Amino acid sequence: MAGKVKRYDREMNALLLRRARVNGRQVDIALRDGRIERIGAGLTRGDGETLDLGDRLVLPGFVETHIHPDKAFIADRTEGLRAGGPTAQTLVAALKKSFTVDDIYRRARRALELAVRHGCTAMRAHVEIDALVELRGVAAMRRLQDDFVGVLDLELIAFAQEGIFHDGVTRDLLREALKGGLRTLGGCPYMDADQRAHIDWFFETAQTFGVPLDFHADSADDPSLLTSDYIAEQTIARGMQGRVSLGHLCMLDVLEPDHRARVVDRLREARIHVISLPATELHMKGRTDTRRTWRGVTRLGELRAAGINVAISTNNIVNPFTPYGHPDLLRQALVTAMSAHLGNPDQLAWLPELFTTTAARAIGLEGYGLAEGCRADLVVLDAPDAARAITEQVEKLYVIKAGRVIARNTRASELETGRAE
Ligand SMILES: [Zn+2]
Repeated sequence: MAGKVKRYDREMNALLLRRARVNGRQVDIALRDGRIERIGAGLTRGDGETLDLGDRLVLPGFVETHIHPDKAFIADRTEGLRAGGPTAQTLVAALKKSFTVDDIYRRARRALELAVRHGCTAMRAHVEIDALVELRGVAAMRRLQDDFVGVLDLELIAFAQEGIFHDGVTRDLLREALKGGLRTLGGCPYMDADQRAHIDWFFETAQTFGVPLDFHADSADDPSLLTSDYIAEQTIARGMQGRVSLGHLCMLDVLEPDHRARVVDRLREARIHVISLPATELHMKGRTDTRRTWRGVTRLGELRAAGINVAISTNNIVNPFTPYGHPDLLRQALVTAMSAHLGNPDQLAWLPELFTTTAARAIGLEGYGLAEGCRADLVVLDAPDAARAITEQVEKLYVIKAGRVIARNTRASELETGRAE
């Protein structure tokens, strides 16, 4: 009996991927016990399942670095953005009071399942904590963390979407969430009148709890409101280099070039991770411009060329911030190519970095990547290369988590085109 159990375990824990396309080469990938055991040519294995990939592209598991499952799927509860109407923040704040733990759980679960189906194997999600929703989002997302063990590594950010100086409870609730095990702290300086006081509180609290920081920062287009230079300065002063990430940074795009160059130097020195959220920017930005419509996406190519770790992420899913938001990072890659002037063949070739390797670095994932010894989190795409995968938005044929296939996807079509001459 013991022998049988052992063999069963071994079979369950071994998977051989034959004819995989990795970094332009065709290789076999042997997975065992949740890790990549070997990458090479002509690997054979007697036990476990074998998948012949037929020279299809394999990427490391997709990583969402900035996403809001707790306010997903509520677009139908609001009128959405209208000329002269309320902001997306105001629309969602009005709804949040009525969020129950079960309501958040159901909506967030749908978001997570979609993300996994589309190749996501690790996610760092914002959880809103404030006087409106209190800790109900935390309760729902903690349940999902347990439910998705072995399927999706889910890390939670204690996030102050409403600012911290409008009421007397948000700061205490954020501290309570960190004491309860949330491992990242998230601020939103532009929601408070005194942005620097907001930033200072977050640095002090992050240092007290020994957690990394993530800010929604510089989302607007008025350079007088710039904060990323101050955040970089504080990151260095407090020895938190590499442990701070900034979402949005749209404002960099409207700075004068020499000013932008100085800010970019500081961001690099502070080893700040920049997370761009193109789908949201396209929906939210430039709505009052009477001439050119500003698209609001930060200068991703320029930041990357300057040696800054940049990532892209989904941000919002079917809510007033992004009514068409969808947790499919291959789709975000196409949106990025379209909106950030990153569509040339060489750029399409490296775009997947922004939701795989650089994204993993931004959230401090260990043992991540397509190399021997790394965790066996992989996505098999129905294309020979990244440019085709992005352009044609191909299917993710297999999503593999810790060496186990957790999603098999197929797409069928029948086409009658006649004979080629
Ligand atoms: Zn966000």
